[in-house]
Amino acid sequence: MTRTNPDSCPGVLRLHQAADGPLARIRLPGGRLEPGQLQVLAEAAAELGDGNIELTSRGNVQLRQVPDAAALSERLAGAGLLPSDTHERVRNIVASPLSGRIGGWADVHALVPPLDTGLRTAPRLAELPGRVLFTLDDGRGDISGLGGDIGVHATGAAEFALVLAGGDSGIRVSAADAVQVMLAAAHAFLDLGSGQWRLREVDDGVPRVIDVLGLSPGPERLEFGAAHDIPIGWLEQDNGLVSLGAAVRLGSMPARIAEFIAAIERPIFITPWRSLVITDLEEWPAEQVVRVLAPMGLIFDANSPWLQVSACAGRPGCAKALTDVRADAAAAVESGRVLPPTDQPAAESNTSGRATGPGPTIELRTADEVAVADRQHWSGCERRCGRPRGQVTDIVATENGYRIG
Ligand code: SF4
Repeated sequence: MTRTNPDSCPGVLRLHQAADGPLARIRLPGGRLEPGQLQVLAEAAAELGDGNIELTSRGNVQLRQVPDAAALSERLAGAGLLPSDTHERVRNIVASPLSGRIGGWADVHALVPPLDTGLRTAPRLAELPGRVLFTLDDGRGDISGLGGDIGVHATGAAEFALVLAGGDSGIRVSAADAVQVMLAAAHAFLDLGSGQWRLREVDDGVPRVIDVLGLSPGPERLEFGAAHDIPIGWLEQDNGLVSLGAAVRLGSMPARIAEFIAAIERPIFITPWRSLVITDLEEWPAEQVVRVLAPMGLIFDANSPWLQVSACAGRPGCAKALTDVRADAAAAVESGRVLPPTDQPAAESNTSGRATGPGPTIELRTADEVAVADRQHWSGCERRCGRPRGQVTDIVATENGYRIG
């Protein structure tokens, strides 16, 4: 597959002209945010944007309705959130959020700074498409199934599987070599490609990259699946401290909540499931965080129906949208029409709209009639932007109402 046009992923220095105004995307390698950085983002959202920080499916954040890009970039650069003008859009690195604190074979967060530095200091790697995703999985299997391009998956305390185009390449590398091998694979992708946005789009991309690397795959292949059990609630760390996993409604965090989280003064990780993890808390402060922030709308309940629902931008943010899907999805949650999970496969519906097992795809005329169980993604058109991987029921706006399935 050959692309004839460059990717259009937005950044801070190249905003996306959304229907509701300029949109800025800020890369957070490994999803990590220092409290002061979150405070800067909260102030920028309130003073330069629409008042919210959107969490993305790559553990980044974005601000909507930002007409003054120069003011935003100046604030972000001052907070260390824009360390490179040339490479800002290629810093797409996701890592197991709990790594180094709870379980896992290895602390993959230790690989993030050298990988980020290696990307930023190689002039040619500025040519990587903004779609290329680096994945660092500590062996628990939460990240490798996200369908990245280049990554590692821990197979032991000091050994990683090289992941290419979302699959196990069969190559095993040491912890000491992991970053250099990933950077070499990125160079190989550029050498072999002809404008493709993703490694999987390059004909025989994986074996050709392996050839360039000069490494020999072994016989073993790990299988990666999409994980849906996102870290939510009270999470005891291996060192006796506590992490708190929290979600925000439809992945949109009001600046005021972000300011409260920043005031906790602990490292924060944005996850690729549009949630966050507040780390390294003593028990008593953790209890106070839940007591204060849960009533403000931060979700610590793993059984919340909000965790079953995601939605694209829809109207008014997207010109292609047929309706305001986020409002309709929120109304479904608030009126109890997001039904408890079933054990049945998703993407099937009966005439009530509830996913109960095999059955025909149906048309529902109005948003008020949609009542679906299990994981569901609401889209304003057929493109289904932001759809999570794995088993998800699609709720897609059409000219005649929402189609389920
Ligand atoms: S799915 Fe359609 S309406 Fe939604 S953001 Fe994508 S293009 Fe826009």
